[in-house]
Amino acid sequence: MARTPFIAGNWKMHKTVADAEDYIQALLPLVSSIDGVDVAICVPFTDLQAMVDSTRGSRVEVFAQNMHEAEKGAFTGEVTAAMLTEIDVHGVVLGHSERREYYNETDRALAQKLVSALDAGLHPILCVGETEQERERGDTERKLRHQVQEGLERLTAQQIAQITIAYEPIWAIGTGKVATPDQAQEACAFVRALVGDRAADAADVVRVLYGGSVNAANAAELLALADIDGALVGGASLDAETFSQIVAAAVAS
Ligand code: PEP
Repeated sequence: MARTPFIAGNWKMHKTVADAEDYIQALLPLVSSIDGVDVAICVPFTDLQAMVDSTRGSRVEVFAQNMHEAEKGAFTGEVTAAMLTEIDVHGVVLGHSERREYYNETDRALAQKLVSALDAGLHPILCVGETEQERERGDTERKLRHQVQEGLERLTAQQIAQITIAYEPIWAIGTGKVATPDQAQEACAFVRALVGDRAADAADVVRVLYGGSVNAANAAELLALADIDGALVGGASLDAETFSQIVAAAVAS
């Protein structure tokens, strides 16, 4: 089954609205003629409306970096899925390792966030990945099994087919230490097999992205791997020219 490659740029806590507008005006002409790849930017909450407006009718989708699982309530500082869809946001990153580590995001909450996101019509990207110590201890598969199984627990087979999963080894995020092609392929194939355990048909359609120090120089090799359907790109997505080169690499590979 041919899966359309998907390149998502995670800006994290970077770019004011003014910075974001400059960036998108630079990016759109660079990616407008690159066909056969889905492109998203995952931006801070304050940039969402401006980026939705500036990308309307273009090939670039706009994702949030988090949301709360509840429909409403006393959760100061949080936003709901409906608040995102109301302003035409396309999707949301869920369970990024920084949110798991710094904000105690749990697999249980993520399982409900996936349901809430899909119910609202958002495209969720669920992030999973092991720490360096877990890899050294030989616990990579155990960690991935736990995160994928718990994350998907409340989804039907049909819902599972609609999500994207990003395999992001924590030791490779923002470190410049990229996983080897063998490590990345092996882990992404394992994630796909876990999806298949829950929903056999979904395993063929769910896109599994690699994330962790992807840049314009290493993207083509990673994106050519059989079970890697795209990339979640942090640092290298902050520059429009570099990000567009990674988008182009997804089509070439
Ligand atoms: C990320 O933020 O998800 C990420 C993979 O970051 P970087 O590309 O900078 O390693």
